[in-house]
Order: sequence, then structure tokens, then C-alpha cells
Amino acid sequence: MDLCKQSIVAAIIILCGTIVQATAQGVMVLTNARIYTVDQNRSWSEAMAIDSDGVISAVGSQADILKQFGDAVKIDLGGRLILPGFQDAHLHAVEAGISAGFCDMPQFGSEADFSTTLEDCRQTRQENGWIMGAGVNMSGLLESVADPLALIDAAIPDHPAIIIDDIGHGAWANSPALAAAGFDKLTSDPGGGMLIRLDGGDLSGVVLESLSQTLLDIAQPPTESSIALAVGSLAAAMDTLAENGITAVSDAGGYWPRGHQKVWGIAEKKNLLSARASNALYVYPDRPADSQIAELKRRFDDDPENLVRFNQVKIYVDGILTQATGALYQPYEEKLALGDRDRMGFEYFPRKTLFRYARELSAAGFQLHFHATGDRGVGLALDAIAQADPASGPHRITHLYMIAPRDLPRFAELGVVADFQIAPSSVDPEYLDYVADFIGDRANALLPLRSMIETGALTILSSDWDADEISPLIKLQTVLTRRVEAAPDLATAVEMMTINPARLLKHADRTGSIEPGKFADLVVLDRDIFKIAPKEIASAKVVVTLLQGDPVYDPAGLFAR
Ligand SMILES: [Zn+2]
Repeated sequence: MDLCKQSIVAAIIILCGTIVQATAQGVMVLTNARIYTVDQNRSWSEAMAIDSDGVISAVGSQADILKQFGDAVKIDLGGRLILPGFQDAHLHAVEAGISAGFCDMPQFGSEADFSTTLEDCRQTRQENGWIMGAGVNMSGLLESVADPLALIDAAIPDHPAIIIDDIGHGAWANSPALAAAGFDKLTSDPGGGMLIRLDGGDLSGVVLESLSQTLLDIAQPPTESSIALAVGSLAAAMDTLAENGITAVSDAGGYWPRGHQKVWGIAEKKNLLSARASNALYVYPDRPADSQIAELKRRFDDDPENLVRFNQVKIYVDGILTQATGALYQPYEEKLALGDRDRMGFEYFPRKTLFRYARELSAAGFQLHFHATGDRGVGLALDAIAQADPASGPHRITHLYMIAPRDLPRFAELGVVADFQIAPSSVDPEYLDYVADFIGDRANALLPLRSMIETGALTILSSDWDADEISPLIKLQTVLTRRVEAAPDLATAVEMMTINPARLLKHADRTGSIEPGKFADLVVLDRDIFKIAPKEIASAKVVVTLLQGDPVYDPAGLFAR
């Protein structure tokens, strides 16, 4: 919300004259528009009225709306398309900004490439002395560098350094960083992660899965300056969301030991938010369950009056397919980049613990947000949800690269929301070839979106930004034009980014479609994407984004007077 709107009521026109929203009559009318309402009947309209609280008061024909609200301030949309604001129910808004400040490493490279970049990274020390980099693929690193720990120690011997991977499931640390976490040659793998070792048993410097979060928690304690940095990062992320027409999100990071919850709270107080947020708190596999459950309960926050809620828990069931850590029903291909571990993949939690978290956290009111990529991981998440309290649902599983045919109908049966991320990167033939190195022919049946829709399960599309593409328009084009398992039509695809995530995020009574009584969370596009070929959709542009009637993105000044 902008500052002037919050602080002033009567004087708003004088002090904040550029915002049309608050008129003497309190109503703003949008005319000459093509409004796709995403209501139950998938109906279209021409005009709408928004009251001074940012609530839609009427939607209808231009003649009717003008007759009813003749005195209101009118904004001519010039025939542009209005949709409900996009809702992105899985992204990493706080981390996106923070990692943007890390030194950039090549995804793949030789020893010499990594050495040179690490030397440069040395110059980018954080205030607390840690050196942070990002972008290296850990499987690739272990293939191209014989002793990653020796390499990073040679380049950065004197300060702790962590290079996080390209996908959020691993990190490359030097000796001071490993020592700060208490990891040495004798350490056995803590819950939820792996210390990758060289042939003789020495540490390689590569840690996988939750151990990268353990290291990041140490590197980024919630000091005043790191919180301030994160708030600034979140504000920048908000700009990106607004530019993309996104008015509601769910942050899937929620690393509470790093102060992420506090960061969101400060951002809301400072009026930096341009989107509603129903966020998740991360459940650590290496923390004792009793105290962690108590801590998470203390942090539960579900006040519908606030823009920000922390009413979900993010629980990782498995890792990722391209690290052979996604949990599979059938083994990985023989040649695994990360050596000879369990060929059925990896589980973050022992079963009993996983199910206990599902039961107790759902009973405490939390919505369960499971990460699962492998088919067995998805099956385990479904098993966990089957034991959870449905009253705090709907619960969901995100990523869903592989789903066994026998597990598909269980989503609808259990009322589980299916949350896919489908971007150009995920349908890229080169990427699919790469995945096939790990799972063979099964790579041809990834991300079974169409099959899921046909089961009748509530299905949504999110981004996983900044790990992947954020633009809803690019994703709409991708899901409609992909070779297999494409969305049946644009209307269905739009629902998966508007009303369906609104249902998941439990604010469908106020958002997700354009109907009287709902908030005017809207996106205006420069053209009608229903009238162009699916392969052209990504060329459409967001012109304006409104959050509760307030223009949070309007570079052309369409709503300015
Ligand atoms: Zn994610």
C-alpha cells in the first residue's frame, strides 16, 4: 500500500493528487476494457467500478456501469485486457534479492575457470567476513574438479566462503566454513543432508540438500544489517512481481533462523509490499522435532487483515532428480554423477518423523507445503497428507516432476493441490536429455500437468523464482505449447494462475477473480491474449498492476492524473 493512502483519508486528493483512486465520490470506474473475470461462468465484461477501499463494487456493461457511477472518475483502458492479478504460490522473494548480491560463479567450468572466479569473489566479503557466491552446478563440479575443497581453500584460505548451487539443493564450502558448522572428516551425515566425500573419506567441500541451509543459517545470522539488507532485497523483488502483474504470492523459503519472518513483517510495516503473501516456514530435518514444532507454533501467523501471513510449513520430502536425490520407485540409471549412493534417491526425514510433522503441524493450523520431485517422494507426501488434519488444508505438493500413475488419482481423493512449475527451461530438449542421464526414458513423461487436470484435482502453476522463470505470460505460453501434457486451453491455464492459487492460499473469497466484493487486485495487459496464437502470448506486456485498487506498477501513468 502506498504511504499516502495509509496515512491520510480526507486530504488524499491534495497530497497524493497523482493517485486517482480516492475521489470525492470514492469510486473509480474502468471503461472501454476487455475484462476476463475468471468467474465460474468464465464471463467477459466491459467496465467495472472500484470503491475507495479498493474493493470491486460492480462489473458489467459499459452502459450499466456508467449509469450507476456517472460521477466517478473514469479511466479509459483503450480496449486493453484486464485479468485478476496473477498469483504465484511458490517463489523465493527474500532469497532472490539476497542471492542477487552474491558473486556470480559459472554453472559449469574447469578448475582454472573456478579458480579465477573464486579469486574475484574474495573481494566481495560480507560485513561479517563471510564470502558468498552462487550458481555452480554441484554434479558438474564433482565431475570436473578432483578435489573441490583444496581448490576453494587455495583461492580463499582465510575467510569462510560458501558457493551455493544453481538450484538450491547444495553448496560448496571452504574449510573455515565447514569448521564453523562443525563438519569434519569424522562427522556422520546430519539429518536431511549429505557431506560428499572424496575416495579416501576426506570431505570434498560439497554439501547437499538441507546442509546448504544449515551453512547459510550460520553465514547469515539475523543481525540488524543483514535484516536491513534482506528488507531491501524483498522490496526489489516486489518491483519484479509488480512488473509481472503478480499480486499474491507464497514465499517457499521461510528460513526463520535467518530472520525471514521478521523481514516480511518490517516490509509490511514500511508499506513496501505490492503483493499479498501467504508464506511458509522451513522445517529443518536436523533439528529435534519437539522443540522445532513448539518454535513453529509460536511463529504461526494467519491474520487475514494483514497482507503477510505465515500459515504454511515447507517440508522437503526428497531432493532433485538431477542430483539423484529425488526419491524414486525404480532406481536411477547406473552412472550417477554423485557416486554410488542409494540408487532409489534420498529422503529428508525418517518416515515416522515426516508423518509426525504432517499430523502435528496441520493440527496446529499450518497448511502443509511439501517439496517432492521423484515419484516415490510424491507418494510419501501423499501418505503424509493422508494423516494430516484436513481442516487446515488444502495441503499441497510442489514440483511434481514425476508422478506414478497409481498416485495420480490420490490428489483429488485427498483434496491435495498439485503445484507445477513449467517454464521454457523445463521443456528444453537439452534439459530433458540431461535429466535422462539420471532417470532414462522416464524423462519423457515429466510434469504430467494434463493428466493431473483430468483427475479433477485443484491444479496450479507457480514459478519457483528466482530458481526459474517468473513471467506468468511466458509460462502461459509454455504450458499451452509444450509437446506433451499441455494445458487444454488458455482459460484453464489462466485459472491455474489466478483463482486456483487463490483457493490454495485461502483468499478466494476476496481475490482470484473479478467479481463484486473482491479486492481490485488486477493486471492490465496491452493486448487480448485470448485473441492471439498461444505461441505469441509471451509477447504481451503488463501495462498496469493494481493491488486493492492501488497502482503498484504503472510506468505509462495510465492511472495518473
Ligand atoms: Zn522452491
